[in-house]
This record gives sequence, structure tokens and C-alpha cells, in this order.
Amino acid sequence: MKTLEHIASELAGYDPQALTADMVNTFLDQLVEPVTGTEEVAIFDALGRVLAADIISPISVPPHDNSAMDGFALDGAQLTPDAALSLKVVGTALAGKAWAGTVNPGECVRIMTGAIMPAGLNTVVPQELTTLTGDMVSIPAGVLNTGDNRRFMGEDLMQGQPALQKGELLTPAALGLVASLGLKTVPVLRRLKVAYFSTGDEILSLGEPPREGAVYDSNRYTVFGLLTRLGCQVIDMGVVRDQPQALEAAFVQAAMQADAVITSGGVSVGEADYTKAMMKKLGDVAFWKIAMRPGRPMAVGYLSRDKLASSAYKSSANSYEINSNNIPPNTSGAAVLFGLPGNPVAVMVTFLAFVRPALLRMMGCSARPTPLLRAQSQEVIRKKPGRTEYQRGWVSTAPDGTLQVKTTGNQGSGVLSSMVQANGLIVLHHTQGHVAVGEAVDVMMFDGVI
Ligand code: AMP
Ligand code: MG
Repeated sequence: MKTLEHIASELAGYDPQALTADMVNTFLDQLVEPVTGTEEVAIFDALGRVLAADIISPISVPPHDNSAMDGFALDGAQLTPDAALSLKVVGTALAGKAWAGTVNPGECVRIMTGAIMPAGLNTVVPQELTTLTGDMVSIPAGVLNTGDNRRFMGEDLMQGQPALQKGELLTPAALGLVASLGLKTVPVLRRLKVAYFSTGDEILSLGEPPREGAVYDSNRYTVFGLLTRLGCQVIDMGVVRDQPQALEAAFVQAAMQADAVITSGGVSVGEADYTKAMMKKLGDVAFWKIAMRPGRPMAVGYLSRDKLASSAYKSSANSYEINSNNIPPNTSGAAVLFGLPGNPVAVMVTFLAFVRPALLRMMGCSARPTPLLRAQSQEVIRKKPGRTEYQRGWVSTAPDGTLQVKTTGNQGSGVLSSMVQANGLIVLHHTQGHVAVGEAVDVMMFDGVI
């Protein structure tokens, strides 16, 4: 575990008061480490988990050469380019029931999809290309080549070869692949435990009556959704009052249980609250100004064991009510802290741009980030060079088949409705200026992530 000072000293051009989005990701990549601890889970429980070890194929898939079509299996050596071929049907090979007889020249075997290729035969003519008269099949000239419609043993996976690699995220396709090998369980890394709470005295929990100047806590639910989609175990702590004891108890108990602690609010410059002071007291924390929009302020660091141990709230297990489903304690040296800004869209954007990649790394996931798409802007977008802007957009297919994108309305950092209407974020990079109509821009698609 490197100290923040150490990471900062190795990053050329690091300036906490003016960080580029790229620098933030580079920094976080140094800050976080994959969790250790693995478990063996049934395939039904493995969706979205991260593989803890390579899976070597114990068998070949498919286990034998077989037919890709319903039709007739034959020896392709008898095919000639210019003449039709007439063959006598001498038997039937069904899927799961091989045909064991011998086939002489001039003969063929009726075969179903998936059935083992009879010995000596290498080609399948699909039924619809043939004419059957009695037990004679006629194949027209020029419709078939030797080897057509035969699947080879091991063409998907060969016995002894790696089927899946450590660090892969188990997708529906991967679950099927594991099952195709006859394996009932897979080794996965333990789930990442992430605690979240909202801060701010103007934040109302659901159920509280409306109050002048107060807003309902929406960040609790967006962060819950983002973390759940990522496959994390969420420790939901609701709203914490802007009061030193309440904040200290919340930070301590979050960090005692979770691998990472996420908060929203209270990290911007003019904040008159206690959140930043408590982060400083309990951890090694940097307060950043990021050259981006939305989402300029962010606090990042560790809530360290040493400092937590000396807190008066360490042993007071019931001083803060946590809806954590009996999650076991965090036994590592520290919990990683992501102090996000308060504005609802800023929370989501900083999560997507920085926190999500960092959490994936903590989860042990080696998947490379999904590439950005290019789409033509349907409108002029005003943009200042010198910061990265993330605009909520709707990507669609233009009449000529290429991708186009337009913004979804009010881009204020508190406006969630334009986020709901979007299917992606238009990423306008640090050095980029205004965008003209028809100009290509990068888009980060949500695609099930949010
Ligand atoms: P802050 O970063 O604390 O200055 O908050 C910036 C803005 O975000 C303020 O208008 C807050 O009212 C709003 N805000 C902060 N936390 C939340 C939350 N959990 N849910 C909804 N809005 C919030
Ligand atoms: Mg505030």
C-alpha cells in the first residue's frame, strides 16, 4: 500500500488543485489493490463475479466431430464440380446415438445436427439441398464442398487449454462456457464490500416531511444502483448528520467493515461542515480540484486502521445503525475512501469516470475498459478547453447507418432528469473546444452499467 505522498511524488505534473481526468485515473490505479480471498461458488451464483484462477478445459468441446446440419453425411472425395451425385442411404445417425456401421463408396448416412460423424465421412449435405427418392439421395452439382457442415472435435475448447482466465468477469456467456466443460462450480474472488453514506444537513431521508431549503437524498439510491450493478456488497448507511460525533462514528464503522467507503457532499471548497475535517482526522486523504464538469471537487485516500483504532467509536458497535446484512469486518490495513461531490449528476459522473474503474480493479477484474464510441454531434456544443466535460446524450442511428448523438437537455450538475433520458455520456476531452454540427465526438455508453 503506497502513501498518497509516494504516489503523488511519482506522477509528473501532479497538482491537486488542477488535476486532469486522466491523471485521476492514473493516481487511483496506483492507490487501489485487488482484494484477496477466494471462494468456490455454484454457476448460478457466479454471474458478475470475478474469476480467481484460470480454468483449464478438462475435456474437449465438442467432444467429437459432429454435424452442423440435418442432412446426409458422406465422403466428400466423391464430389465432382460438374456432375450431380447420387448416394444410397444406409443408416441414420441421431444426436446422442451414433451410427456405428461402415459406409462404402456410393453410400451415405442420414444425420441430425450434433450427431457424431460416422467413421470415414467428412461432409454433410443439408437436407434442403437434396432430393430423396426411395433410399437414394441426389445432390446437385456445385452446391457442396468437402468438409462443409462438419464441426471438429475441440473446435470450441481443446482439452488442457485455458478456457477462461483469472480476473475475467463472469458474463452469461462465460457461465455457459463453464457449464459446457461439465464444471458445477467456479473459483471466484470474494465480493467487494462498499459502504456508502450521504452528508449534508439539508439532505432529507425518505419519509421525512419536506422542509424549506432541504432536498431528498437521491445519491443514496443512485450509488446503491451503481454499486449493485457492479456486483458489490453494499453497506447502506443513509444520511449522516453534519455533526462531528455522527460523522466520526459513521466513518469508523464504515471503514471497519468495508473495503471502500464512498460519501457524497461536503468536499467542495466553501464547505462550512465537518466532513473534510473528519476525513483528515481519520485518514490519509487528498482533496482534489479536478478539471472536469460536472464534478470538480473530490476527496481520495485511505481511512487507516491506526487512526481508526484510536477513535472513541471503534468499539461502540451500535452507535450507528448499519443495514449491512451481517457483512464480516474488513481485516485489511485500511479502507479506500472516495469522497464524491454532492450534486446528483456529479456523483454519477465521478463514479463512472473514476470510482467504477478503481472498484473493478479492487474486485480483481482484469477486463479492459469498454472502448468509447464515435458519434456525429447533431448540434453545436459549447465547451471550454482545459477541462473534461461529460454531457448527457442520446445516441441513435442516423439514416445513413452511422451513429449520431444529441444532448438530452439541461446539463446542470443537479439535474437528474436529463441523466435519466440519456443512454450515454458525451466525453469532451481536456484540450477539446466547441463542437460543430456533424463533428465526431466520443461517447461512453451506459449499456446496462447505469
Ligand atoms: P455539496 O457538494 O455538499 O456542496 O452539495 C452540492 C449540492 O448537491 C447541494 O445543492 C446539495 O444540496 C446537493 N446534494 C448533496 N448531497 C445530496 C444528496 N445526497 N441527494 C441529493 N442532493 C444532494
Ligand atoms: Mg454541502
